[in-house]
Amino acid sequence: MDKLYRDLVDLPGAPSFEKPVRDYMRKNLEPYVEEIIEDKLGSIFGIINKGSKGPKVMLAGHMDEVGAIVTGIEKSGLIKITNLGGVKGEVFLSQHFDLITDDLEKIPGVTASKPPHLRRGKDEKPKPLLFSDLLIDIGADSKEHAIELGVKIAMQVIPRNDFTVSKDGKKFFSKAWDNRFGCGISLEVARDIKASDIDCELYVGATVQEEVGLRGAGTAANLIKPDVFLAVDCSPCQDSFGGDEVGGSIGKGFLLRFYDPSAIMHQGMKKFIRETAEANGIKFQYYKSMGGTDAAKIQLAGDGVLVATIGMPARYIHSTTSMISSDDYLEVKKMVYTIIKMINNSLVKEIKSNV
Ligand SMILES: [Zn+2]
Repeated sequence: MDKLYRDLVDLPGAPSFEKPVRDYMRKNLEPYVEEIIEDKLGSIFGIINKGSKGPKVMLAGHMDEVGAIVTGIEKSGLIKITNLGGVKGEVFLSQHFDLITDDLEKIPGVTASKPPHLRRGKDEKPKPLLFSDLLIDIGADSKEHAIELGVKIAMQVIPRNDFTVSKDGKKFFSKAWDNRFGCGISLEVARDIKASDIDCELYVGATVQEEVGLRGAGTAANLIKPDVFLAVDCSPCQDSFGGDEVGGSIGKGFLLRFYDPSAIMHQGMKKFIRETAEANGIKFQYYKSMGGTDAAKIQLAGDGVLVATIGMPARYIHSTTSMISSDDYLEVKKMVYTIIKMINNSLVKEIKSNV
């Protein structure tokens, strides 16, 4: 995989703390796009083939990752936190984290693990661990000492990255695949696709605050007013837990998300994407999700937008690490490039007519 993915997953960027990721996006969009635009929450897009008479096509990953925010410092020097994004206490126990200062310095810490026998209720059964039970130990001897070491209320807390390549060389473990992966695809598209390759006005970039309710997608869509929107996002696979036919598997191609609770795939888009994948020999799997992506928000912008999520299969997202496969990366990339090169006014008309 391109080096830019490694750079992207290493950056800290809890929801609303995406600045380091946005700066990286800007730096890597600038050489290739005609103009860069941002909304007021911080979503960022580069424009290719500006002024085209074709449809407006928007491609986005999201820059934020699940993390936490400091909400208190106990007398003992332990740090209280609140989650940013959907995470469970149990997966964050005994994990390494970094508290990130305004200057992007890292204060390392570990989530204090309270042994089960200290968590028993009156009935003697261990209580489930809630995220709000977690405390971070940075090795401070007292509240004053923690403050001296640089801890401030409201700073972001991010899992310490453990980027690792699997023994077979084809899988990559890291925090934040969800969704620096999508940011990386946007940057590759900006680098590789020229105005002369397309019949649309193309907006490539990334949104903010997806993990806390698709917030940046709403404002970015208001700014761009796209006709077609493609979300590229990592989705959780069930294959390591028995799974089923539509639960997602590593290595079987991109996820055609035909259903999630906030977006039933537009039938014209479903037909177009399935037929395009088949015609080009691109591997895909049908996928049913219990969560939403930016596509759910953007389909409802204006008088409706033709949206699709090109899903990247990922194991263990919304924890401190996750895993993707380079085989799936190639299929996702091929699908996104193919769609972008195909879209023009008559194709949009045809997709709409198949709803
Ligand atoms: Zn995501």
